[in-house]
Amino acid sequence: MSVPRVAIVGAGPSGLFAASSLLAGHPGVLIDVLDRLPTPFGLLRYGVAPDHTSIKSVQARLAGPFASERVRFFGLVELGRTVTRDELVAGYDAVVYAAGASEDRRLGVPGEDLPGSRAARDFVAWYSGHPDAEPQPLAGVRTAVAFGVGNVAVDVARILLLDAAALAATDMPESVLAELSGHRIADVWVVGRRGPEHATFTTTELRELLTLDGVQPVLHDPLPDDPPDADRRVRGNLAALRDAAARVVPGARARLHLAFWRRPSELRGSGAVESVVLERTASDGAGGVVGTGEREEVVAQMVLRAIGYRGKPLPGVPFDERDGVVPNTGGRVVDVDGSPRVGEYVVGWIKRGPIGVIGTNKSDAAATVSLLLEDLASGILPAPTGPDAGELLAAQGLAASSFADWEAIDAAERARGAGRGRERTKVETWHALTDVIRFGRTGGPLEREPEA
Ligand code: NAP
Repeated sequence: MSVPRVAIVGAGPSGLFAASSLLAGHPGVLIDVLDRLPTPFGLLRYGVAPDHTSIKSVQARLAGPFASERVRFFGLVELGRTVTRDELVAGYDAVVYAAGASEDRRLGVPGEDLPGSRAARDFVAWYSGHPDAEPQPLAGVRTAVAFGVGNVAVDVARILLLDAAALAATDMPESVLAELSGHRIADVWVVGRRGPEHATFTTTELRELLTLDGVQPVLHDPLPDDPPDADRRVRGNLAALRDAAARVVPGARARLHLAFWRRPSELRGSGAVESVVLERTASDGAGGVVGTGEREEVVAQMVLRAIGYRGKPLPGVPFDERDGVVPNTGGRVVDVDGSPRVGEYVVGWIKRGPIGVIGTNKSDAAATVSLLLEDLASGILPAPTGPDAGELLAAQGLAASSFADWEAIDAAERARGAGRGRERTKVETWHALTDVIRFGRTGGPLEREPEA
């Protein structure tokens, strides 16, 4: 019997946890990990906040599979452009989609598209040095409002409020560091449409935000008692908010406003955001909210929509428009009518929606991989009939980026950082990334990586 081949589309945490599970679960399987970007690690590199260095250290574990000669990385390969779903299905015993959730939810209020109103994703991409990111100028901004009370809102608020020394200790690109160190934002609002007991942020992240040096927390609502059914996280969040309400920061350089039971009804401004109109809300008794009609206006020059992400359809792959995921049963892809797509699997946010921390993807990927291995063992997966990714690209004269190329980028970033007394400074443009690949590569683009 031939050695089974698996393609994983997406080199973020879920894809690399899947690679790791596959390697551990099968003695011979060959794995090709494909990504649109030249670098692996997905949201770990471009989503986890740069000051959260302990989470970033997961990178070494995620890189683990590439030490095996059974695993190859193909960067600069995009599903639907460089390779198609049909080609992958023909070229591999199994295909695992690990594409994450790359769209944003919309507020759906007037003024949402005014300059100054931004998706938190764009802001995160910018400070993370993503090569697709647009500059996020902060000149003229005195007050910023983040909508949503999840961990992304906490991240963007914290990054705006960190002092220059904390920012300099990160791996942000120099241009980002200059913008964030030089801005004059003195008020950051975090606004939730429901109560603090319903917020989705986690207690450690919330406490970190509420206790930033030189930042005065301002709570705009009375805090509720612990609900009888509150879990540990909710009780922890409420305790953190009570502590913050009692905190006095003498000579504070900025204020963090937390406002609940408010939703945006309009962003106002002539040519750019100048204020935000909030409507007070009340519980509808069924977990949602109703507007009370009572409104207040907050003068603000920047709005960050941190109201959740959404999966994007993958060309040729079924898509559930309502939930923004690839329809699946436990990780086996099914068509929209529920019929199985034998040999296709899904992991991570594109499987279950944009919830959970990096580590959640480990058990999630392992669950899908155990079904894949079960299908492989039972013989129901048709053997490949076409070329694999390396052969497909070679036939078209296309060069992917390899794991060795990533190592060259990694070395370049460390060298850039060292020159400035930092551990790393990210290479943030396509041009600079491809330059490192062209001039800094140590092996051919389509070679299997050697065992470490
Ligand atoms: P999230 O936790 O789902 O939070 C989304 C927030 O947006 C909720 O407060 C939600 O309120 C609100 N919202 C949704 N639609 C809205 C609307 N139309 N108007 C006003 N508010 C609206 O999502 P996230 O913050 O994007 O985070 C995604 C996942 O990544 C989460 O699991 C998070 O924990 C994780 N993450 C973790 C870290 C970390 O560990 N440090 C950092 C970043 C992200 P409702 O509850 O009322 O819908």
